[in-house]
Amino acid sequence: MIVFDLHCLDSGETFEAWFRSSADYEDQKAAGLVQCPFCDSSRVAKAPMAPRVPRKSSGAALAKIAAMQAEALKDSRWVGDRFAETARAMHSGEIAPEQVHGQATLAEARSLAEDGVPVAPLPLPVVPPGEVN
Ligand SMILES: [Zn+2]
Repeated sequence: MIVFDLHCLDSGETFEAWFRSSADYEDQKAAGLVQCPFCDSSRVAKAPMAPRVPRKSSGAALAKIAAMQAEALKDSRWVGDRFAETARAMHSGEIAPEQVHGQATLAEARSLAEDGVPVAPLPLPVVPPGEVN
């Protein structure tokens, strides 16, 4: 499998697409099967190869992770340093389960994991939202 950076001539988007081979890409392209995932246009072309600048690409990757995290936390409630006790109370059924995020020490996180409480570290630190109550 090979991956090409493709560029849509209609929407201007750049996206990645996988093909079995370069010839496979040419075949699919000729048959109009290579389409832009943003606007379904088949007027796509291989994007000019850009030199991969580490600092730039890691910045873009970080922005992507930050966006994904923001999306994941959109419906999540910030519980600050009460994260460990809140997660534990939900796990034991004391309180209704909901999506929460907050701060936990490494020891707390390890203890939760040992007790089978499903928690996951966030890829990026979260800035506590102002004053809570
Ligand atoms: Zn497009």
